[in-house]
Formats: sequence, C-alpha cells, structure tokens
Amino acid sequence: MKHIIIIGAGASGLTAAYFAAKNQAKVTVLEHTSKAGKKILVTGNGKCNLTNMVQTLEDFRGKKPEFGYELLKYFSVEDTISYMEELGIATKEKRGYVYPRSETAVTVQKKLLQKCLALGVTIVYDTKVDEIKKEKGKFLVTTNQGSYEGDACILATGSQAAPKTGSDGSGYTLAKALGLKIIKPLPALVQLCAEDKICKEASGVRCEVMADLYIQGEHRISNQGELQITDYGLSGIIVMQISRYAVEAMDRRKQVQISLDFFPEMTESGLAKKLYRYLEQAKEETVLEVLDGFLNDKLAFGLLSQMGIGRKKKARELDESWAGDMAHFMKNYMVELTGYKGFEQAQVCQGGVDTSQIQQDTMEVKEIPDLYVVGELLDVDGNCGGYNLQFAWGSGAVAGKNASM
Ligand SMILES: Cc1cc2nc3c(=O)[nH]c(=O)nc-3n(C[C@H](O)[C@H](O)[C@H](O)COP(=O)(O)OP(=O)(O)OC[C@H]3O[C@@H](n4cnc5c(N)ncnc54)[C@H](O)[C@@H]3O)c2cc1C
Repeated sequence: MKHIIIIGAGASGLTAAYFAAKNQAKVTVLEHTSKAGKKILVTGNGKCNLTNMVQTLEDFRGKKPEFGYELLKYFSVEDTISYMEELGIATKEKRGYVYPRSETAVTVQKKLLQKCLALGVTIVYDTKVDEIKKEKGKFLVTTNQGSYEGDACILATGSQAAPKTGSDGSGYTLAKALGLKIIKPLPALVQLCAEDKICKEASGVRCEVMADLYIQGEHRISNQGELQITDYGLSGIIVMQISRYAVEAMDRRKQVQISLDFFPEMTESGLAKKLYRYLEQAKEETVLEVLDGFLNDKLAFGLLSQMGIGRKKKARELDESWAGDMAHFMKNYMVELTGYKGFEQAQVCQGGVDTSQIQQDTMEVKEIPDLYVVGELLDVDGNCGGYNLQFAWGSGAVAGKNASM
C-alpha cells in the first residue's frame, strides 16, 4: 500500500487526503496547529463561498494565470459540486456564487474531516515539520514529534495570509529547501491605505463607484461595485479585487492611484446637466443641501470642501460652469495610495511556488517525482467569489488521485 504524507490539513490538504484514501492509499496528514480546516471556517464571512458557476481566465491571477484556470479541465466546478455531495453537503447558488445549503462553513469543515477519518486518514496535530528529504525514492519527513517515511509527499501548507488560521508562510521555507523557486509572496485581496482627506471626512461611508487603478499613470484595471471608505483608506470587494495589482506595484515602489467615479451610472455631461437643474431649482439652499440629494452627506461635504465650496455657500452663488466642474471632479476623484494592509488582513497571497515547475494534470513537481504542491502555496490567486477554494479543492483532488496511483 502506498503511503502518502500530506503537510497541512487545510482545504487542499484534506481534499488530497480524501481522494488518495479513496484510492486505497495509506494517508498521514501532518498539521502544525491543533485543528484541521481552520481557514475553511472563516471563509465567505462564515458561510463558505466554495466555488462559482462562472469561471473565466480573468478570475485567476499569478505569473501564469492560465494555470489556475486550466486546472478546471482536470477538476471542474461540477466536480466540486459532486465532491461536496459525496461529502454529504448540499449546495445552493446565489448569482453564480455557490455555498453549502446550510450557509455555514462549519458544515464543510466538519464533513470533510469526518469523511477523511472514516476512510482511515491519520491526522497528526501539533506537528511541526522541520525537514523534508528524498532519499532512495522515499520521502523522509522530520518533525518535532518524530520522523515519517512515505512514498509520496504533498505540500499543502497554504500561504502567509491570515496566519492565525495556521498558514504562517513556513511552507515557503519547506518548498525552498526542496529546491523550488518561490515568487515573492505578497498580500492579495486586501484593503488599501491612503492619506486622502476623503478617508478622514467620509470614513464609514459605503457607496457604489467605478474604481480605476493607475500605475505610474497607466490604466491597469477597473471594477465597479460597493466601495467602503475607512479612516485608513479604501476597502470593500471592488478594492479587494484590484488590490493585488496595487500591492505588487507598490512593492516595486511605483506610484499607484485609484480614480473613483462616484456617479458610474451617468455620463459627465449628464451629471453636469442634472446638477445644474437641481442647483437652479433650489437657489436659496446651500450647495451641500443640494448635493445631499445625490450622495451620503459626509461624502458630499468631503467632496465639496475639496472643491473649495464651504458648508454655507448658497446654490445661487454658483454659475453654470460650476456644475460641469463638480461633475468632472466627482467622476474623476484621484486617490494616491500610500500602502496596504498586511498578511494578517489579507484573504489570500499572490506569489508562491512558481507554477512552471508543476505538471498541471497531476500537480507533481516536474523535477522531483512523487512530490506534489497544491493550494495557495502555489503562485495562483483568484478573485473574490469562490475561485480560491475552487483551486484548493481542484489541485488537492488532482494531486491526491495521482499520488495514490
Ligand atoms: C477571511 C477569509 C475569507 C475567505 N473566503 C473565501 C471564500 O469565501 N471563497 C474562497 O474561494 N476563498 C476564500 N478564502 C481563501 C481560501 O480560504 C484559501 O485560498 C484556501 O483555504 C487555501 O487552502 P489551502 O489548503 O491552500 O491552505 P490553508 O487552508 O491555509 O491550509 C493550510 C494548512 O496547512 C497548515 N500548515 C501550514 N504550514 C504548515 C507546516 N509547516 N507544517 C504543518 N502544517 C502546516 C496550516 O495550519 C493549515 O491548516 C478566504 C480566506 C480568508 C482568510
């Protein structure tokens, strides 16, 4: 019987264990915390957005974004749903986003663990891996709890994001010691920092915007949706989605800006006309009172004060050209980014084991037979929306099946 040693009992490691054990392999999972699947529990705000019915190349990022996307050929969304059914988890879909029907991540963590144990998988907790060596065709894994010998080894340690859940970056050290090339890990799906006045004045405001990211003045990516203005900068799903590009550029000390359009549903000239009409019909009101009809009052005040329009200025004091200036300002509000939140706040990491070293249809390391790398330890990061877990289940399943053959 083949003995497979898996390092890490997260989404990808437990999935690899499940598929390998189903194929009659002896499986030992070494986990350095005292609990399996800790990160699964915090996913999707505790509801676990486990995959997405819509998958495109743009939903995956990394040096080779096609690596994440093309893995779907070997483990598709339908395979994920069948896998969940096998585990006894009914799913539900909301606008493409797939969740367990129970709407609780505990279901996923609990069922996955139960099924692994039922198949005879051994999970050894509080076990820190110090070294992995391959000698005479066998893997020797040295830990603080003794040594293990296996025919195959699967690295499933996750990244460095949310280290409280166990993924503390130690997997990069293990991979590097085995001779694997690592692309610098950085936070992704993370909040961005700015010292802009609007962040102080409109902190706590949530509003629909179009956000355009510029790196050294060049447009990189856009996203429309709900922005959350905070005292430290910008947050919300749209910011998280574009953050990996901003972080990567700031790490290279590039100038990074986000242009915010607070009226994405209107053209600039349409907005100017509308503002003018509203200012005209309320001449005795303050400009702030007029703008309150369009925007949250804190945001309206923050924007007007930066245009030099004080709280008391009356609508009648502005001429027609002001409506055009205001429309332009509010549709092209440029925020200079000064930094980003760290690994603690990040949902995932960009960077990791360079995927050019991995055989995609098996997840095996090309140069080291019987060594596999799966999940977020690899240089694959997905958008918010179930793409990271899809990659964790998919890569784990492919590695588990192949390692046990
Ligand atoms: C707050 C939050 C919300 C998220 N929400 C979603 C979502 O809704 N949908 C989605 O698709 N993705 C989501 N993600 C991302 C997703 O959870 C991860 O991409 C995925 O869990 C990664 O799985 P993994 O198995 O690669 O790593 P992990 O789940 O991090 O598992 C790695 C395991 O290895 C263990 N380990 C690490 N190093 C060692 C070592 N040296 N020795 C032994 N054990 C080790 C860790 O303790 C851990 O148990 C979210 C992430 C966070 C932080």
